[in-house]
Amino acid sequence: MYYGESTVVYFNGAFMKAADAKIDLYGQSLHYGYAVFEGIRSYDTANGTRIFKAKEHYDRLRYSAEVMGIPFNTSTEELTDLTYEVLQRNGFSDAYIRPVILCSPNMSLSKGKESYLAITAWEWTNGYLSNQMRIMTSSYRRPNPTGFKINAKVSGHYVNSILACQEAKDNGYDEALLLDIEGNVAEGPGANIFYEKEGVLYTPATGNILPGITRATVLGLCESLEIPVVEKKFKPEEMRGADSAFFCGTAAEVVALESMDNIPFTQSWENSLGSILQKAYKASVLEKAYKRETIEA
Ligand code: PMP
Repeated sequence: MYYGESTVVYFNGAFMKAADAKIDLYGQSLHYGYAVFEGIRSYDTANGTRIFKAKEHYDRLRYSAEVMGIPFNTSTEELTDLTYEVLQRNGFSDAYIRPVILCSPNMSLSKGKESYLAITAWEWTNGYLSNQMRIMTSSYRRPNPTGFKINAKVSGHYVNSILACQEAKDNGYDEALLLDIEGNVAEGPGANIFYEKEGVLYTPATGNILPGITRATVLGLCESLEIPVVEKKFKPEEMRGADSAFFCGTAAEVVALESMDNIPFTQSWENSLGSILQKAYKASVLEKAYKRETIEA
């Protein structure tokens, strides 16, 4: 369950019990998916409870609202403070945080007139996505960037993610890999992707994907760990049967992929660049120092 009797949320200007928060049935957010949101993690670190990349997430939330024409004026700093208060009121440390901006009652197809902010959170007990995943190339393509604000995190986009994820599960896979409208590898339903070939990492260039905050963190870690990485467009054939691959996202963190369309990645995860990045990422969210171990070829 996501909330209990005593769970507190921030909603429309006040802290209240999750069970007491009410939204109306006459809104564009519900009917048309016209809402924007974020998925954020907080961690129990040696320095106390810390929200990872709060600024990046709240800047993106504000960007998403702006490009969708949803009026929203709360600053990134205020949003961060409110989130710490939600965590503190619930006694959460390791948590998943879900802020969402909804619009006021309006059934027309014009832009939002007023918005409501909700900040919800629930405790995060890990184990999710911790195994190596078997992925399938989805028959669903990511939304066409000429039809959507693909750089924004918009609720309606996730209908596409649900279709792809369910298709993968129905076919006995753990997760989907979606191509973009041009047939290049794009991303998972809720995570970005990297693969490794001959000591180099490759990841889809931005433009047709959600430019993930974890993706940016991984790129930064590659730089500091001197791991070569290339952002480019590539077809699924190029990635299938590569040395190793991983998904990365706020919820998934860095998660190993076992196979793609039943073709295994050839290297053991322990010897992969992804495994180094997985450890470095974990250290980073926990605000610990990380030193690259030497890996044997
Ligand atoms: N792609 C999609 C479609 C997503 O939903 C997510 C999760 N927000 C990501 C990539 C990864 O983004 P982030 O690292 O910012 O969580």
